[in-house]
Amino acid sequence: MNAHTAREPLPAGGRDAIGLGRTAHPGLDVRHGTLLSLEGIHVSFDGFRALTDLSLYLGVGELRCIIGPNGAGKTTLMDVITGKTRPDAGSAFFGETLDLTRMSECEIARAGIGRKFQKPTVFEALSVFENLELAQKADKGVWASLRARLSGEQRERIEETMITVGLEDDCRRPAGLLSHGQKQFLEIGMLLMQDPQLLLLDEPVAGMSDAETEFTAELFRGLARRHSLMVVEHDMGFVETIADRVTVLHQGRVLAEGSLAQVQADERVIEVYLGR
Ligand code: ADP
Ligand code: MG
Repeated sequence: MNAHTAREPLPAGGRDAIGLGRTAHPGLDVRHGTLLSLEGIHVSFDGFRALTDLSLYLGVGELRCIIGPNGAGKTTLMDVITGKTRPDAGSAFFGETLDLTRMSECEIARAGIGRKFQKPTVFEALSVFENLELAQKADKGVWASLRARLSGEQRERIEETMITVGLEDDCRRPAGLLSHGQKQFLEIGMLLMQDPQLLLLDEPVAGMSDAETEFTAELFRGLARRHSLMVVEHDMGFVETIADRVTVLHQGRVLAEGSLAQVQADERVIEVYLGR
């Protein structure tokens, strides 16, 4: 894996964001280089406004970090993208034509949006290899998957993925014996088995050692361009290493957006989040 992929300068963003990455999944229309368009999203829970008039555009191949204080609406934003939460108003498109507000969570996952939650959810009794094997054949049941013979190509994909996430030496180890960080890497590997166009990662380095955090940064930089990534994270050092652009949320609204240096210099961001 190419650890520190050179970063091309980024366009200003918005509707004119230029795509940087691979060609899209079949059926996904990204001819304007925008992979995800959220416009005027509102979400309330019993009258509490979790997201207010939120608009956000993500370019093809872009790595975006979402930062902001607790309760800002970061997880809710991911819930809207994955179909877990329906917005009360606004539009959410994947590519030019896929209306996420009309698709089920399953349909959204199948269209190429993969999500990693904060807590790893691997099968502890199964080996690293078996976990990846299951993720590859996610549409079958557990036992049917493990009994079906793997093609050479499938085996190769699993082996490639183990190398990408740094678990090649732990191939036969039960996932339950991995460290917290390694479980996170395995889960990212499981996501990659579905080759999603967009990966959503909620606080991926929380609880990781410094070395694991550094490895995660290299991993994400290696995945960007071929995939688009949206990463919620509080660790500013980590954000600085990986982000193309940063969006700051506060009380359900976009407070600022730009390079990390730009948002760090923004008085309002300093006021509500970063401190002086
Ligand atoms: P963040 O991830 O930025 O910390 P969240 O998106 O989890 O913030 O939450 C935003 C706000 O919405 C919080 O005040 C939270 O309590 C509220 N909230 C989130 N999900 C629900 C829900 N299902 N029901 C009620 N309130 C919710
Ligand atoms: Mg959250």
